[in-house]
Amino acid sequence: MPKNKTIRVRIAPSPTGPLHIGTARTALFNWLYARKHGGSFVLRIEDTDLERSDPKYEKDIIENLKWLGIDWDEGIEQKGYRQSERIDTYTTYIKMLLKKKKAFYCFHSQDELEQEKQEQFKKKLAPRHLCDHSENPPKSPAEKGIIRFRPPEKKIQFKDLIRGDIEFDTALLGDMSIARNESTPLYNLAVAIDDFEMNISHVIRGEDHISNTPKQILIQEELGFPRPEYAHLPLILGEDRSKLSKRHGTLSISWYQDQGYLPEAMINFMALLGWNPGDERELFTRDELINEFSLERVQKGGAIFNLDKLDWINGNYIRNMDLEKLTERCMPFLKDENLDKEYVKKVVALEQERMKKLSEIGELADFFFTDVLEYDKELLRWKDMKDEELSEILNKLENVLSGIDEKDFTKENLQKILMAEAEKLGDKGRLFWPLRVALSGKKASPDPIDIAVVLGRKRVLKRIKEARNRK
Ligand code: GLU
Repeated sequence: MPKNKTIRVRIAPSPTGPLHIGTARTALFNWLYARKHGGSFVLRIEDTDLERSDPKYEKDIIENLKWLGIDWDEGIEQKGYRQSERIDTYTTYIKMLLKKKKAFYCFHSQDELEQEKQEQFKKKLAPRHLCDHSENPPKSPAEKGIIRFRPPEKKIQFKDLIRGDIEFDTALLGDMSIARNESTPLYNLAVAIDDFEMNISHVIRGEDHISNTPKQILIQEELGFPRPEYAHLPLILGEDRSKLSKRHGTLSISWYQDQGYLPEAMINFMALLGWNPGDERELFTRDELINEFSLERVQKGGAIFNLDKLDWINGNYIRNMDLEKLTERCMPFLKDENLDKEYVKKVVALEQERMKKLSEIGELADFFFTDVLEYDKELLRWKDMKDEELSEILNKLENVLSGIDEKDFTKENLQKILMAEAEKLGDKGRLFWPLRVALSGKKASPDPIDIAVVLGRKRVLKRIKEARNRK
């Protein structure tokens, strides 16, 4: 990387859908690159496609980038960072190209273009449009045409910082469409102009844009713009190695937020979608990523998206989180504003080890928040235990526990007393299994003694009685 060059990178989402994992990963890599090199990260909204753009998607993109903690130095808070606010600029360039006869109106209909394509297909030629209208200006402003640019015949070469040397023959392109009319640029023209006007030094984006790069370079050359550096990130693939799409599951970032993935875990996970540190490490803080990130370590091959890995990373972040902070983050998932935070904290402390997502607090620990447990009586039975023995055990539990005063209902005391009883039975499961199920209604739960302490004497005795009466 040239030393004296100011790094300016950008993310340019189109608000035609919610922020999804692919765009978020591109944003992250740009952001890491800017933060590492003390550069600027620009957010530009590409909303020239008015039919498909919707402000609700722009809102979703902004909110979710903020949730991820990917902040920008320049963006839509100032005027001129939405393409729809830059129409005058595009018009100036389009008029200039038309005046210099570098761009021209093409009046071919869709049917004619389709016919041309079919003929090329029959002759086994690459599909491209070669226009014979290049000398004809529109007869009236109402006449419908499209504005095209005829590239000079040459080979375009560029060095991609990830993929190496790339060469492209312009003869394959035909006459490129660059604008619908003087005030409506199409994607490649708008991007070339914006990247120049915004002084973008590095274009870091998904590999699906690689075929647009020669088109943007041709426009830059025609308009006398310097060429930015290019880095095309590998595609994100599903586990079946096909391009990640909706059929692999939900891709929008807000879904991950609703599921209780932590933004710091998402950042960690997304950083590994195409980048690796060169060793086995998989857990990184934001600052470590900024320090270690480099485009040289971005792979060429597709990056496999694996939700189990995200769960693993998220579980790690949850386990290492300060209890107070974790409780705070769990509260919205319990959907009950009247819950006592100190009580929730005790529950979270018991579940912290097992949780992979914040939303699990509601599922794993539901029995702490309701007194109506739904479980089958059979579940109370330990191995081959007969009805009679089960009743005896539940009676014993009730007798022993009701003999302990409220103030003595501590982990230490319960452990001492219940262990002594369990040992008398030989197999400790004969006592602790029915206790676990009576208190939680579940096969898997935290230690029943821990549950008992959090629930308190009264609720414990009520649940044991309820288990005894269960039909
Ligand atoms: N609006 C384009 C997209 O969302 C941006 C492409 C680019 O970065 O040039 O894919």
